[in-house]
Amino acid sequence: MEKIWSGFYKKNIDERLEVIEQADILSKEHLELLKNNEVLDFDTANNMVENVIGTFSLPFSVVPNFTVDGKQYVVPFVTEEPSVVAACSNAGKIVAKSGGFKTEILDRKMIGHVALYDVADTTLAVERILQSKELLLKTANEAYPSIVARGGGACDIEVKVLSEEGVDFVVVYLIVDTLEAMGANMLNTMLEALKVSLESLTEGVALMAILSNYATRSLVTAECSIPFEDLGENGEYLAKRIELASKFAKADVYRAATHNKGIFNGIDSVVIASGNDWRAIEAACQSYATKDGNYKGLSTWRCDEASKELVGEIALPMPVASVGGSIGINPTVKVARGLLNNPDAKTLASILVSVGLAQNLAALKALVGDGIQKGHMKLHAKSLAILAGATNENIESVVEELRKEKHMNLASAKKIVEKYNK
Ligand code: NDP
Repeated sequence: MEKIWSGFYKKNIDERLEVIEQADILSKEHLELLKNNEVLDFDTANNMVENVIGTFSLPFSVVPNFTVDGKQYVVPFVTEEPSVVAACSNAGKIVAKSGGFKTEILDRKMIGHVALYDVADTTLAVERILQSKELLLKTANEAYPSIVARGGGACDIEVKVLSEEGVDFVVVYLIVDTLEAMGANMLNTMLEALKVSLESLTEGVALMAILSNYATRSLVTAECSIPFEDLGENGEYLAKRIELASKFAKADVYRAATHNKGIFNGIDSVVIASGNDWRAIEAACQSYATKDGNYKGLSTWRCDEASKELVGEIALPMPVASVGGSIGINPTVKVARGLLNNPDAKTLASILVSVGLAQNLAALKALVGDGIQKGHMKLHAKSLAILAGATNENIESVVEELRKEKHMNLASAKKIVEKYNK
């Protein structure tokens, strides 16, 4: 299996499609969709959102041989940013040598809340809510019976009193097992159904009833251990610098923001390909980065001197779905899910968190090594060549010449392209 993917990046699109066919990972239907580059049609798009005037495309790539929990995956990526796919492939390969990523699903539940104000006695209100827990859970479940029939549903309630600028809020948190769905609509339906009961129990007024994207009950961890020598010639030195970079991302919010952006270069690409709500995942993880009070880097890297390994760890809320939203609607999403062997929500979450850690490893390795511009500039030269009007026939030569220029910019690219397009 691994062999057929070797040199995948050097092949043309037809050859890559042949490899996908040989790998026998897609159904006939999905293979045809891919070969015909069949994307979202106008009518479907028009029924999905408002004021549609067309559809919008982005490159669709894969990272093969990505090992998570002992299984090899061909991971679909949708991104416009050069070097993201190459970086993840590179890090995935390094980690695969020592067994790949190991993940754990700590829980898979969603949280929503009803906020109430003008509550005369907040202590009494909290008491009454907790006493009525069973009845409230029953009301929530009766509002969305199909998830209960599938084996999920509302399972717990917690209450807090929060104050801001002289206003007290009684906040009721509903915890729901949404099974294979992300659950926004499920939660919102249940929470709205609770409003009347909660107003009567608290003698207060409901402000809003809505899902929270701070999904602390959907945490997934991923870890990897890389022998120093697998990082290259000066592996131990690099590993020590990666450990320092991890500490730096906990100490400085300016670095933490970019450290985490790098993690999401990978995660967002796969979340988009899998048809999930990437704003929800960004909101979940970016808020989780502040869990200790300050915004921090989300991953941790340390050197294990005894085993001579670099150990990477990450824990992220990852409430992705295998059903619901637009997942079953977009043909490219069907292909992307097919490439991953149609994973359930938990398996997809495990792959995503591992992709985040891989992407982070690639970025840190480059940053504390040669710097990231070396790799980036090659891909940037390609973007400049395309912008300057290079054709399929001359793009490689244009890029080669452009990289030798003192000033690698659009003006230089245009001059070179002019020469070739004469
Ligand atoms: P849906 O409303 O699409 O609900 C999931 C659907 O999947 C239901 O119709 C359910 O069927 C079906 N289903 C089939 N099998 C299963 C299974 N095994 N487990 C669970 N459901 C199953 O999606 P969500 O409630 O997940 O909401 C996600 C959508 O909400 C996304 O499009 C998101 O963008 C959007 N959204 C996000 C918000 C946020 O993040 N803050 C806010 C509002 C909307 P059945 O009904 O029969 O149970």
